[in-house]
Amino acid sequence: MNFIKYAKKSLGQNFLIDQNIINKIVKIADIKNKTIMEIGSGNGNLTKKIMEMNPKKLYAIEKDKNLSLILKNKFKNYKNIKIINDDILNIIKNKNIDKNIIVIGNLPYNISTQILAYLMLIKKWPPWYKMLILMFQKEVADRITAQENTKEYGRLAILCNWKMKITKHFDVSKNCFFPKPKIKSSVLSFTPKENTKFQIKNPKNLEKVTRILFSNRRKIINKNFLKLFENNVSVAEELNINLKQRPGELSKETFYNIAMKYENLFS
Ligand code: SAH
Repeated sequence: MNFIKYAKKSLGQNFLIDQNIINKIVKIADIKNKTIMEIGSGNGNLTKKIMEMNPKKLYAIEKDKNLSLILKNKFKNYKNIKIINDDILNIIKNKNIDKNIIVIGNLPYNISTQILAYLMLIKKWPPWYKMLILMFQKEVADRITAQENTKEYGRLAILCNWKMKITKHFDVSKNCFFPKPKIKSSVLSFTPKENTKFQIKNPKNLEKVTRILFSNRRKIINKNFLKLFENNVSVAEELNINLKQRPGELSKETFYNIAMKYENLFS
């Protein structure tokens, strides 16, 4: 496995080498007879285990040309795997994707939140995937799953939980990878909420509302809230929001209500 010496930092290459963790990841969903997409198959450790669970089909997406050639060789005797040498962001943009896919990935950490954003902002909802099982740096996973009144709570938790039900499964020690990353990781799964009662037509409005209200975490939201609503003082009353709170004290649902109101008034 000498190619591992050339692991590319720029592509976030930290390969999973711990069989116990690999086994735990593939048990999160029932893979048998399902269509799976793996993001960043690397040298194929997780890929191999997915194949052992007898999926109907596995799309293995790998951006690194050399690794994709290694994968093609490794799995040349299997008919139900398709190795695609492309950027996952291109694949998500391209709309010709099967339905009901389970997406699995030990993500390249430098673009993990970008990949998640692409997957969450798909317009057609429910989307083409039925579940995402993704590994993040623990610090990012903690922000995604954070509740109000914690220091991890902020825009990421609010944006991610809007249309997704999120479950944390387990942490993964840095010793489970090669090369060893600097920090711990965590595995999360996401299932699309079929219909949310928070109908925000343009997610940019939720992004804007959270950006402005979180622009100063330490201060009460009063000023920023009035700025957002162009000094319309009745909005806070209508939504029953106490403007003396700090942004981190407002629930996610409160932010969704604010975004809906903002969208109604200004677009
Ligand atoms: N799943 C493998 C490798 C994880 S490392 C394992 O667990 O062992 C992340 C992998 O994602 C690397 O192989 C890297 O080359 C690949 N990668 C990085 N950026 C990518 C992108 N934009 N699209 C697809 N794959 C990417």
